[in-house]
Amino acid sequence: MDVPEAMRAMVLEESRRPLVERRIPVPSPRHHEVLLRVLACGVCRTDLHICDGELTEAKLPLILGHEIVGEVTVLGDDAGLHAVGQRVGVSWLGFTDGTCKFCRRDQENLCDNAEFTGYTRDGGYAEYTVADERYCFPLDADYADAHAAPLMCAGLIGYRTYRLCGDHTEKLGIYGFGAAAHIVAQIARHEGKQIYAFTSPGDTEAQEFARSLGAVWAGGSDEKPPETLDAAMIFAPVGSLVTTALRAVDKGGSVVSGGIHMSDIPSFPYADLWEERIIRSVANLTRADGTQLLELAPTIPVRTEIEEFSLESANEALDALRLGTVRGAAVLVP
Ligand SMILES: [Zn+2]
Ligand SMILES: [Zn+2]
Repeated sequence: MDVPEAMRAMVLEESRRPLVERRIPVPSPRHHEVLLRVLACGVCRTDLHICDGELTEAKLPLILGHEIVGEVTVLGDDAGLHAVGQRVGVSWLGFTDGTCKFCRRDQENLCDNAEFTGYTRDGGYAEYTVADERYCFPLDADYADAHAAPLMCAGLIGYRTYRLCGDHTEKLGIYGFGAAAHIVAQIARHEGKQIYAFTSPGDTEAQEFARSLGAVWAGGSDEKPPETLDAAMIFAPVGSLVTTALRAVDKGGSVVSGGIHMSDIPSFPYADLWEERIIRSVANLTRADGTQLLELAPTIPVRTEIEEFSLESANEALDALRLGTVRGAAVLVP
């Protein structure tokens, strides 16, 4: 395929500064890598934490974006898992070493030498990107490009968070009803769970959105749910929600936080944790999570609600996410 020499990219040159539009050389795929023409790239809350310098390992300058839908355009050395012209998805997990103790015990999400797309490797806020082909997922043809993008992080991290809530969950709380919640709510409902959605106090639009996706109850995070929950997921970066959720879950229940960063968690009495309640985080994802979700989503089928932005409008998309005005997921289309 014809590939130009230069491409447009939105570049983070310095943290706490807006992204800058640049024309830069199209990258060349190395060993086991493929060059992808970016068809769509989701905008994730993690991107905000990177821009704001709350995550400190970012390479700079950096092209953000880890919810990439792309077309395989050039194969690097020894690459051949995906054919030229095939559409694939790229997630946050960009590389693992396969040899550390975590990789050897099927916890590649915790790999000591992992690389992350749009954080320690360049991502998809550009016309082209390179990815290690072993971390690219084939995508179901039923999903349009922009609609597939949010599955790659909001979907995957949401799915891992949901699975860690445990099998015995009937009444499931979701704190923060954005991109991840709107995907995972559809899966949970499909599996017969009752969903209790918590939004920012007074955000009646998000509460309506949650009810439209099958939540049996939706209210502000300052409200007590009408029933005791079996487990709760947290997708908002607000540490006080951990103790709020803990007080809402029953004996033996889990509170699982899906975000990579949150404000400090206030101290709380041991009695709130007692009776085998669990607080845990989710870090990254494994390729098995990806394969499972991408097989499951089209069978339900999970529908993603998106708001499209042009590539040059990446700063506006980030601002909209920060202000909480995006319904569903923000997606950049070059
Ligand atoms: Zn993400
Ligand atoms: Zn490893």
